[in-house]
Amino acid sequence: MLAEVARTTGPLSVENRLSRPDLFRQSAFLAGEWVDGPKDAAVAVTDPATGATIGHVPGLGAPETERAIAAAAEAYGPWRRLLAKERAAILRRWGDLMLAHKEDLAVLMTLEQGKPIDESRGEIDYAASFLEWFGEEAKRLYGDTIPSHLSGSRMSVTREPVGVTAAITPWNFPSAMITRKAGAALAAGCPMIVRPASETPFSALALAVLAVEAGVPEGVFSVLTGPARAIAGTLTASPVVRKISFTGSTEVGRILLAQSAETVKKVSMELGGHAPFLAFDDSDLEAAVAGAVAAKFATTGQDCLAVNRLYVQDGIHDAFVARFADAVAALKVGPGLDPSVDQGPLMSESAVAKCEAHVADALAKGAKAIVGGKRHELGGTFFQPTVLTAVTEDMAIANEETFGPVAPILRFTDEAEGIARANDTVYGLAAYAYSRDVARVLRVSEALEYGMVGINTPKFTGAPIPFGGVKQSGLGREGSRHGLDDYTELKYVCIGGVN
Ligand code: NAP
Repeated sequence: MLAEVARTTGPLSVENRLSRPDLFRQSAFLAGEWVDGPKDAAVAVTDPATGATIGHVPGLGAPETERAIAAAAEAYGPWRRLLAKERAAILRRWGDLMLAHKEDLAVLMTLEQGKPIDESRGEIDYAASFLEWFGEEAKRLYGDTIPSHLSGSRMSVTREPVGVTAAITPWNFPSAMITRKAGAALAAGCPMIVRPASETPFSALALAVLAVEAGVPEGVFSVLTGPARAIAGTLTASPVVRKISFTGSTEVGRILLAQSAETVKKVSMELGGHAPFLAFDDSDLEAAVAGAVAAKFATTGQDCLAVNRLYVQDGIHDAFVARFADAVAALKVGPGLDPSVDQGPLMSESAVAKCEAHVADALAKGAKAIVGGKRHELGGTFFQPTVLTAVTEDMAIANEETFGPVAPILRFTDEAEGIARANDTVYGLAAYAYSRDVARVLRVSEALEYGMVGINTPKFTGAPIPFGGVKQSGLGREGSRHGLDDYTELKYVCIGGVN
């Protein structure tokens, strides 16, 4: 069946699919140069829809990371001294170039990540929006003056860039997780070294091509490819790197937090999620079902915001389940470059194995698979969109992030119980609720222990909002004016003798 998929996506080389073939770079970018590593250390990148190798990137390590850090340190002074509006103009051009080459960037993303092409186009829009947003926001990086409590003194507070920064990013949003960090860093005056996920380096390298065209100076933005531990270990150990921003699993986040402690770095951690979705009896059933499908199956369920537990109240439970099952059964699975496809492949065999394990555990403990439940007949890493009913909290899927297209439905009776069960997790990234009762909406949104709450909508992200979680879902916020705070330090100056 994978051969069939290969025929659908076609035998074209990556370059032949792009109107700007030079956006496909198989070299890393550091200190303003394209760099190749030793041939035997090259890392293969595959198309998850076919399993075919689409290219290679260099396997760089500590020496190249040190070089990127030194170049960033050198670039820092001139970059921070540019006027905010000059940095903003470069960021704006970078974002505009992304939009001008949206189709190529989207094709590259779908080839290496697998998501449906329309989702890739949407991610490019989303990713570009951070560059414009933060450029504009940096123009308003105001400080304070403080009414003095000391006679003859004048007091002021300014916001300064933190210095050289680094980002380690995941494969599920190969462009947006970079620009959400780099947009803020560069706008604030900080150079950034990015180490993208091994599965999706080409989207990151295409961003570097466009950064150069936009006028980002040498050393201000680098993309390093190669083994995560060697590169991240060098970045975290360096006293020159003053901030690390990570998006990925809670497990790796803990490692990076511990490594960053040695040099007391600033950290931002966007970690795992386990989002609950509460559908109350008084919700608009049609809207709740559509919202649940969107919030569960986008990016094939491989989204930190993906709903992982659907709590449905008794009064609408059966009607919700029937409609939801119909909607999920209608989702078309296939290679992301086919524009009619709703759900692409999963990223890896281990992602499929996790879906299978969660389904098997739930079925063994009394759940029912009313839609899907198995590997898809297309083979490879395709998995059937799945709905499980009669799920209970003793099942693994009710406690762990699945990161795949499996929707478990749990039943609840009253509001307090629904909220308590939704909050009963170490995670706190995003939660969703559907209700038409205004008082309930207010109570529920206040009671949910999450960094972000979507009421009557599956869609709430964007450059102007503070993205981030509480509890073990992370530290800090990205996007919004608060996203810039993470790349600045307050400096207080007291001038005495002013009599
Ligand atoms: P991951 O395994 O934590 O990997 C994320 C990044 O960390 C990759 O670049 C990875 O490199 C690197 N990495 C792995 N081990 C490392 C180590 N020991 N030291 C330093 N870096 C290391 O996560 P993932 O599977 O790619 O992404 C899924 C997770 O990300 C989920 O938990 C999801 O919820 C979370 N996520 C969170 C957000 C958010 O904003 N909160 C957004 C998206 C995703 P390799 O690719 O080489 O392994």
